[in-house]
Amino acid sequence: MNPQEIAAIDAGRPVVFRHATVLTMDPALGAGGVIEDGDVLVTGTTIAAVGQRLEVPADAVEVDASGGILMPGMIDTHRHMWQTALRGYGADWSLSQYFVFYYLSWGKIFRPEDIHAGNVLSGIEAIDAGVTTTVDWSHGLQTIAHGEAAADALRSVPGRFVLAYGNLLGAPWEWTNDPAFRSFVRDLRTDDMFGFQLAFDVTGDPEFPERAAFEAARELGLPVTTHAGVWGATNDDSIRLMHEGGFMDERTTYVHASTLTADSYHRIAATGGHASVSTESEQSAGQGYPTSWQLRKYGIPVSLSMDTSVWWSSDLFSAMRTTLGADRSREHLEAHAQGETVVNNRLRAEHVVRWATQGGADAIGKGDLLGSLTPGKRADVVLIKNDESPAMYPILNPFGHVVFQAARGDVDTVLVDGRVVKAGHHLVGVDLAGARAEVARTVEYARSTLGEDAWREGMTPEIPADERIQNPYTYTDYDGGEMRHRARSGAQPEEPVHSTAGA
Ligand SMILES: [Zn+2]
Repeated sequence: MNPQEIAAIDAGRPVVFRHATVLTMDPALGAGGVIEDGDVLVTGTTIAAVGQRLEVPADAVEVDASGGILMPGMIDTHRHMWQTALRGYGADWSLSQYFVFYYLSWGKIFRPEDIHAGNVLSGIEAIDAGVTTTVDWSHGLQTIAHGEAAADALRSVPGRFVLAYGNLLGAPWEWTNDPAFRSFVRDLRTDDMFGFQLAFDVTGDPEFPERAAFEAARELGLPVTTHAGVWGATNDDSIRLMHEGGFMDERTTYVHASTLTADSYHRIAATGGHASVSTESEQSAGQGYPTSWQLRKYGIPVSLSMDTSVWWSSDLFSAMRTTLGADRSREHLEAHAQGETVVNNRLRAEHVVRWATQGGADAIGKGDLLGSLTPGKRADVVLIKNDESPAMYPILNPFGHVVFQAARGDVDTVLVDGRVVKAGHHLVGVDLAGARAEVARTVEYARSTLGEDAWREGMTPEIPADERIQNPYTYTDYDGGEMRHRARSGAQPEEPVHSTAGA
């Protein structure tokens, strides 16, 4: 697409993608949802037709998608977008260190403009990677000005977002009932591009103080998203209290849902709730084992998420890959514990692609509008195509290709609501330079506010001492460490003295 064609599409001219491997994610289309050498026609904000050799209006812009995979935009159901301002800073954190950094020590220093900066960069990053809808689990909103900054930032990026409003520095039963918050909600405009939820956690305190926050959500007609089953933070009591209070329904999202027993999974399944699995997060932070292997058994619908790029990556290719790997890894370990061998994998690449698309759409209550390339749905479309990459050829198993071969750099074209936001591997109509400048100011501010020592310490947590296991095969008078050291420094190692019997 050239700039004139992009402008024409944005002005309402139809666009047709030709000769792609189309993963419609709609089982009723093609062979199991896949159309080889397929076409997708987009008119305005809508997917108009899907098939082979489509007849299209004479003024349609044609995009050659041969050698590429066309799929619905991906949907991330839990991302703390404000934390993108400190991208990668906490790569070596434990969950406790994350809590200390944001909840106890430094969360309070983040100003409205810092929330804005993180959200804008994160929003641009999402659409660049083919994530057309992101739930901004925004728990740094300590004042209404912070909330306004978060909303303004999301509105400024041409993606689809859901602002899940939260405040890690406040009690949810207080801030949800604050008159200033209520008037913020009253004045908020929501539509298909911008949704709204409440985001808070339930500690399991038997007094259940969160009841008042759930009642506020009910009164305002808002879904709740909550970190559930997080080792050491939220647990079965949290789920039981929610359930007994009648606050669990099909609009509730349970993030992680890892460290829970069968009783909690039954309560979630029975009330129709959705899980948001953040495998990279669970593997590294320790909320519990990535739980898709359990959720499948209890019939709980799964969506995927990346959690936060202060630690991890933030594209759903990584989420799909790590989730499939973690699920299979657990199946193998469970089988080995019984002395058995997995000979057929239950979870397929296709399933995790579904979780990253239709699963996310269902979790946010937009399953009839988003999540598949079904005629009549909104035109959120991703073309994965990269003729420069050896990894993009041959494409034999398209679901496997998306999960294990492709990466964010292979995202060629992205449409959100029929608007071109990326074409020919380049972002369209977004101010990335401006977003970077905003984040640069936040980094500079955070670094100078923390001071150099705290800044460095925050990024380089202490490494606990290893207790080396005694190796029974090591010769008692042979110092392997010393030998290696000498070999590296170029000095001649001393002749090792063998003391084995018979030598
Ligand atoms: Zn989270």
